[in-house]
Amino acid sequence: MKKITILGSTGSIGCSALDVIGKNPERFQVVALAAGKNIALLKKQIERFKPKVVAVSTKETALKLRYSLTNKDKVKIFYDKEGLKEIASFPSADVVISAISGSAGLIPTIAAIEAGKDIALANKETMVMAGEIVTGRAIKKRVKIIPVDSEHSAIFQCLEGQKSKNLRRIILTASGGPFLNFTGNELKKVSLSQTLRHPNWKMGKKVTIDSASMMNKGLEVIEAKWFFNVDFSHIDVLIHPQSIVHSMVEFVDGAFLAQMGIPDMKLPIAYALTYPERIINDLPSLNLVKTGNLEFRNPDIKKFPCLGLAYAAGICGGTAPVVLNAADEIAVAAFMEKKVRFIDLPKIIETVLDVHNSINTPSLEDILQADLWARRETSRIIERIM
Ligand code: MG
Repeated sequence: MKKITILGSTGSIGCSALDVIGKNPERFQVVALAAGKNIALLKKQIERFKPKVVAVSTKETALKLRYSLTNKDKVKIFYDKEGLKEIASFPSADVVISAISGSAGLIPTIAAIEAGKDIALANKETMVMAGEIVTGRAIKKRVKIIPVDSEHSAIFQCLEGQKSKNLRRIILTASGGPFLNFTGNELKKVSLSQTLRHPNWKMGKKVTIDSASMMNKGLEVIEAKWFFNVDFSHIDVLIHPQSIVHSMVEFVDGAFLAQMGIPDMKLPIAYALTYPERIINDLPSLNLVKTGNLEFRNPDIKKFPCLGLAYAAGICGGTAPVVLNAADEIAVAAFMEKKVRFIDLPKIIETVLDVHNSINTPSLEDILQADLWARRETSRIIERIM
């Protein structure tokens, strides 16, 4: 029986993870959950999965949750950043699913590693912001970090049993998002609701917007660098609108391995929890005849500059990826509030990156400082252009 903690249990990944766990009660037991403010959903999760401890974002939310539960729900409730750390390092857990959205996921993920927990990592920001520190600490603590992000799960599966010296390159696939075939002029007028309509994947809002701008793929390129210890010159991106090939690898002899399947996060989540085992699920089987043609093309970096910005920040290294990520979070939040346009996103991020002095081999403190600085700087730039 594997004991599981979920950080971000009410988000899209958290809910899918609980779905997998609920269907395999003989394999998994939930011991701790952390959520933000969605008490109604967290309450249902507590009643169903009976965790020993939970955490929410604020004291006020914790009190509301306490009142909404009955006496028989003997769950301990924590709150705030300290509460989140408490959940991340909860002693009886074997695996922590790190699925908080955004940079807020970094510190609790590190806390889980320090506590010796294996990590199922859905929070790509952990690797983007602090890949060197996180992978280093995981080795020290003999902790396994298994990818949940579908592309990285695909690569992880393709590389299983292979020698890393035989890898020539990694090819991350990208659906291209809802605006793949839009012209530059059409992109100027896209609305928030259009941006939130992803053609293949059902995901949280932030990652859906990042998919439309290709920033998501950019962050994933940096994530792949740290997950698989490969240079950026060996990581390529291909647009694949059908989202059937979840990513692939090429070996030195020219052999390709690709992982395919229907686009459903429950598969990579289950694999991260059961690796190296595989378990039966109720997902429909992929019908390649019905799927029809599988297309591949090169990404258009002129039309979607975020991908180029991410490569540049990744190659620069140091705190540049931290700034890229923070600037994107603030810019996307402003887009959700309709303060800026979709096409402003790369311009804002580039402006912030241009004025940043990157620190090489940053400490965790340097990373958090750079994150804060970039947030303030991005907000300032947004105020100016509004
Ligand atoms: Mg992904």
